[in-house]
Amino acid sequence: MAARLDEKLELIYDDVLHRNPGETEFHQAVHEVLETLGPVLVKYPEFAEKKIIQRICEPERQIIFRVPWQDDNGEIHINRAFRVEFNSALGPYKGGMRFHPSVYLGIIKFLGFEQIFKNALTGLPIGGGKGGSDFDPKGRSDDEIMRFCQSLMTELSRHIGEYTDVPAGDIGVGQREIGYMFGQYKRITNRYESGVLTGKGLDWGGSRARTEATGYGTVFFTNEMLKARGDSIEGKKVVVSGSGNVAIYAIAKAHELGATVIACSDSAGFIIDEKGIDLAALKQIKLTERRRICDYTEFHKDAKYVEGGSLWSIPCDIALPCATQNELNANDAKALIENGCIAVAEGANMPTTPEGIALFQQSSLLYAPGKAANAGGVATSALEMQQNASRDSWTFDYTQKRLEDIMIDIHKSCYETAAEFGAEGNYVLGANVTGFIKVARAMEAMGVI
Ligand code: NAP
Repeated sequence: MAARLDEKLELIYDDVLHRNPGETEFHQAVHEVLETLGPVLVKYPEFAEKKIIQRICEPERQIIFRVPWQDDNGEIHINRAFRVEFNSALGPYKGGMRFHPSVYLGIIKFLGFEQIFKNALTGLPIGGGKGGSDFDPKGRSDDEIMRFCQSLMTELSRHIGEYTDVPAGDIGVGQREIGYMFGQYKRITNRYESGVLTGKGLDWGGSRARTEATGYGTVFFTNEMLKARGDSIEGKKVVVSGSGNVAIYAIAKAHELGATVIACSDSAGFIIDEKGIDLAALKQIKLTERRRICDYTEFHKDAKYVEGGSLWSIPCDIALPCATQNELNANDAKALIENGCIAVAEGANMPTTPEGIALFQQSSLLYAPGKAANAGGVATSALEMQQNASRDSWTFDYTQKRLEDIMIDIHKSCYETAAEFGAEGNYVLGANVTGFIKVARAMEAMGVI
């Protein structure tokens, strides 16, 4: 069960439930933030008077549109796409596009809502938004992906812009999809507006270290939490869920910092390789050939593949959920705690259920919510926008250093805010409250809009 809210916040939450029926992931994300805001309203009663929370919970704009496209056999398909422009108090709306059959308004709203606070935490001038479609890219040819992206951008182009709303990638949307969408935007608007999308290729306005940023950032944050306890990631056994963009670069950075990642997964199952996941093989399977994780055993006969099941039962020191929402439940949390896991950091958005979070928080384990731990992706997207605005291109090392410094700052501000509110070590409270206060102050300054 999620924690109880105080009376004022319960009323706000009831209103959110009433206004957004059936959007369970959105309800979950709002509840998780409200759980931590009680002490903030005591310290800053003006935020309650000005109804800042109620305003933050209502997106500034929600766009829902039809995406018709033709497959390679000429058959017509109709998908639905969304862009939720949630909050622009700190800058243009910023957040990725997700292509996955599970996408509906409630998923996009949970992601957009979390994005507001995450983006505020980066300290960079970006508001919060998110988009996506129920399109399933699995098994589709390059041409089909291109036609879908072009059709989607034909409508989306009216709503975005470098000073308005800047989409990026997420599940099912990588550099290939960003390329097709950017091409169509350029064609429709007749403008080479690099800053309208991030996650671009290096030859056409992308930033070095953007592809790696979310996974790298999650590991930097993990290391900061451990350092605060006089420890480090070096020598630790790590389990990572997923094998997409975030997971692959979390594995890469964990190895670089001296840890051993012994397991990773996809939606069908997981592999265990006690010697450490072979990154080159994983990249070839998942990035180059777009195959399934089970094929890893072709490269390493002694690795074990398990279909279905939960990889959180594998004993490890550190767990990095990097796949999708609600992938780690109370039983998984129990198994991790019982097996002596010392830190969990979320590369994915909201991967832990409320019951799982409650168990982590009752234990001595370090727990970093996605809002803080995976903010390196969007932070580096903002660095991409900076490079685009100045028509510049930074080196990998310089960009990575900026990313690392941002993650160190995010850790510091979450840690210090939690301590200030009498909850030292509570990174959930630290992240929510730090992000909320920044957004609330900007909204207050701009009046009732
Ligand atoms: P991705 O490259 O598409 O990879 C997603 C991975 O998660 C794949 O291994 C996929 O397995 C697995 N997965 C997806 N849905 C699943 C499900 N329902 N059950 C089990 N596994 C599932 O996406 P990504 O960019 O790495 O994103 C992963 C997570 O990180 C998401 O929560 C995303 O919102 C979050 N995130 C991403 C970024 C970013 O910069 N990309 C930034 C911040 C947060 P299959 O291949 O079998 O589907």
